[in-house]
Amino acid sequence: MKKILIKLTALFIVLTSLFAAGCDSPGHTDTSASSARGETTAQSTTKYPPATLPSQSTQQSTSQSTSPSSPDLGTISKEDITDEKMNELITQKYLSVHENSRPGYKLDELKNIVIHYVANPNTSALQNWKYFENKNNVSAHFIIDLDGFILQCMPLDEVAWAIGTQEGNYTTISIECCHPDSTGKFTDATYESLVKLVSWLCQKYDLTADQVKRHYDYPRTNSSGTVWHKSCPRYFVDHPEKWEQFKNDLLIQ
Ligand SMILES: [Zn+2]
Repeated sequence: MKKILIKLTALFIVLTSLFAAGCDSPGHTDTSASSARGETTAQSTTKYPPATLPSQSTQQSTSQSTSPSSPDLGTISKEDITDEKMNELITQKYLSVHENSRPGYKLDELKNIVIHYVANPNTSALQNWKYFENKNNVSAHFIIDLDGFILQCMPLDEVAWAIGTQEGNYTTISIECCHPDSTGKFTDATYESLVKLVSWLCQKYDLTADQVKRHYDYPRTNSSGTVWHKSCPRYFVDHPEKWEQFKNDLLIQ
């Protein structure tokens, strides 16, 4: 009797472990698990489409995201941020004018350049551009891809819906950055393009490094009066010393 019980227990353990493995395997059709996954995917798809990056880009970003070293910016100079060079680096693909994406309003004045992260790992600049174009009440002037490619979404004297406050939206140029994982750390290529783009904008509009801000630096107030800060761009909020390093890396003056 005892032996039978032991065998039954062993069989139960084997069956349980097989089922558990099946829940994580692709194509498993457990109703509750797949509906839960489906909801997650649907939300993710609604917010931003899932990434369909070429394998080369994925491999590149994976190896970069695990690299402990800082980006090597030793080769960047003022000659890399001339109008001509930046025009080669930037692709203009303007959003349609619509109140929920690109309202077409003019900035009151330009006070600051604001850095963001897209908050959806491994999505491309174009995928995020499409999310803006779908009139989701969010936009930015630029999106920098995982490979450093820069998309410009609207003219620089127009308002983007990026900051969450009226004053912020009407006085800033916003730059969204793609990132390979949930830490929000940018690839070296994204980082290098960001340094060039922000340096060029500061030169163009006569701004200082103190006028380069994180989205986090714009406090918001909710309906109950509580002040809060958006954790954006996450890596520079979690690592303030890296944010200071970024500002030091800018080619200003
Ligand atoms: Zn942001």
